[in-house]
Amino acid sequence: MSVELLGFNIDNYSFEEAVVRAKNMIDGHKVSQVVTINPEMFQCAEKDADFANIIKEAEMVIPDGVGVKIALKLTGKKADRIPGIDFAKRLLTEASKSDIPTAIIGAKEEVIEKAVDNLQKEIKGLNIVYYHNGYFDSDEEIYRELKAKSPKLILVALGSPKQEVFIYNAKKVLNPALMIGIGGSLDVWSGNVKRAPKIFQILGLEWLYRTITQPSRFKRIFPALPLFLMKVINYKDKI
Ligand code: UDP
Repeated sequence: MSVELLGFNIDNYSFEEAVVRAKNMIDGHKVSQVVTINPEMFQCAEKDADFANIIKEAEMVIPDGVGVKIALKLTGKKADRIPGIDFAKRLLTEASKSDIPTAIIGAKEEVIEKAVDNLQKEIKGLNIVYYHNGYFDSDEEIYRELKAKSPKLILVALGSPKQEVFIYNAKKVLNPALMIGIGGSLDVWSGNVKRAPKIFQILGLEWLYRTITQPSRFKRIFPALPLFLMKVINYKDKI
């Protein structure tokens, strides 16, 4: 089941259906890429054909953020919003139940150390076989280290599009696994960045909270949503 938006297919699973699908991919016979798509990524894909191709070839594309949900609504389509950070946390919990070897890559050294520590305290039985900060010179070296540990679930927090490119290239070299880009999730799990209060989460306004509390993001994120919605409307009128 998928819906089309600006030429990209987005899976329209419920949260629980997406979890089931991801668990099948963890047990699969190849490297599968999960993309949690947002308006900024559509903008990036428009300028970067390689990035657009990565999204098109991803095994699962889920709508992260209210922007994509509104855009789908404008075009008469529908998909549940699946916040990437909640989805990734749930995958860690599912992995812990079956002792699935897990790896996490990204963020500054002190951030990933604290995040791993917090996750291990919170999720009993979580089997983290490898972690590395997100500031490395050689992707190949990280792939080599990953290959030696053969994790089946790999979370990558390098920001977009860096994490999607890293995962895409990993598909050719790693042992079967599910890989998902998780943006700034480690900053939240480490306790360094506060998640938006529940009311913002429920209303789908986490992006608004983040742009207010982290002014450096304002210029990047704030124009992205209206521009994206304009594009969706124009695109709809063309077809
Ligand atoms: N990051 C990283 N390596 C890099 C660039 C970014 O590990 O080369 C990390 C950064 O420390 C942060 C995460 O990627 O933890 C997300 O960064 P950002 O907030 O820029 O991305 P977004 O959440 O907007 O996708």
